Amino acid sequence: MRAPSNPLALIGPAILVLFAAAFVWIWAKDRRSVHLLFYGAAAFMFCLGALSQILAIPQPVGANAVISALIYTLSVLLLCDGMLRRSGKYLRWLEYAACTMIIVSGIAYFYYVERQLIVRIYLLNFGFGLVCLATAWRLRNLRIGKPPERILFWILLAFSVHFFPRTVFTVGAVAPTADGFASSPFWLALQFSLAVLGAALALALLTVTAADIIENLRRERSLDPLTGLLNRRGFDEIAVGHLQTSRTWPVSLIAIDIDHFKKINDSFGHAAGDAVLKTFSRLLLATARQVDVCGRFGGEEFLVLMPNCDGVGAQAVAERLRTKIRMTAFDGLPVNWRATISIGVTEARRGELLSDLITRADEALYHAKRSGRDRVRVYGEIASV
Ligand code: GH3
Ligand code: MG
Ligand code: MG
Repeated sequence: MRAPSNPLALIGPAILVLFAAAFVWIWAKDRRSVHLLFYGAAAFMFCLGALSQILAIPQPVGANAVISALIYTLSVLLLCDGMLRRSGKYLRWLEYAACTMIIVSGIAYFYYVERQLIVRIYLLNFGFGLVCLATAWRLRNLRIGKPPERILFWILLAFSVHFFPRTVFTVGAVAPTADGFASSPFWLALQFSLAVLGAALALALLTVTAADIIENLRRERSLDPLTGLLNRRGFDEIAVGHLQTSRTWPVSLIAIDIDHFKKINDSFGHAAGDAVLKTFSRLLLATARQVDVCGRFGGEEFLVLMPNCDGVGAQAVAERLRTKIRMTAFDGLPVNWRATISIGVTEARRGELLSDLITRADEALYHAKRSGRDRVRVYGEIASV
């Protein structure tokens, strides 16, 4: 180990440690966001790589080149893996192994077997550039995402691409020895552009992370924690939007209530009741279309707003759901126990308030209950009930 010739060189690693700590700290608050750990690990590894070069650990030039290349490569791979994981993708072990093997063994070969500094420079820079470019390609949907995601995508692309031209343009100025290289324009340009683009990338990742946290809070505010369906607030927000646009017309609403639910709780316990609510919600989501808005309105009552669907279509969906529930064996209930639901269906009228629409669906539901439960009633047909 040797003292750094310029103590200012330690500023970069110090900032990287701060970034690493920030990502790990945010992860500790919400452990579902595992990708943040990858960001943290990537920043920390990059800090280690920089320190190994600045402090010359290990001291022999060849060993230092190999070790720092290994650490940097892992850092880049962890960063890319983290970004992919945020989008539900990931890097395979094989990809980790192949990239690390190619880059690190190449560095070792072009130091110990054939001493070629220029080839090592190309290998590292083009290697990292290609790994980042492949990641940007796999994350190309971010460019049409929310503003922070778009910014992240373009910064990632700039970061990936910058490895190529700079290497090509400045490699002619490289001094033949490693010592000369450290003070060459290439090395300074590399440090500067890497610092600027790396900081921009880290800030973009932090911004996207903040946006994710806000989005999660917003979603959780609108979701029912037991079933994962929309709660009343979330349902109202989306339903009002549908009622106000002509593009989604006709719109129908179905109101569902599980029959004799109190008896399920009383006979088999509250936990069994909760399990029924969860299973029911899963079946409801599976029966409804992707565009339907499914909400839990407290207790064992549910609403489904169906855009681009008239009363006849909504009635058909309601019947399908009713039949499916009748045929389902619910966890926590005896196998021969048949849970049933009653459903009220109504079609929206132009310009009416959501509350009026819900009142009519409730009225139809009430009639379904009164006429014996386990049935579907359509509002317009109530008079004949
Ligand atoms: P009906 O056929 O007329 O709808 O009768 P019901 O027993 O289903 O209706 P009632 O309104 O009398 O009872 C609803 C029960 O739902 C009462 C309440 O304890 C229970 N409940 C409300 N929320 C929850 C919940 O989150 N979990 C469980 N397990 N039970 C709940
Ligand atoms: Mg009920
Ligand atoms: Mg009820």
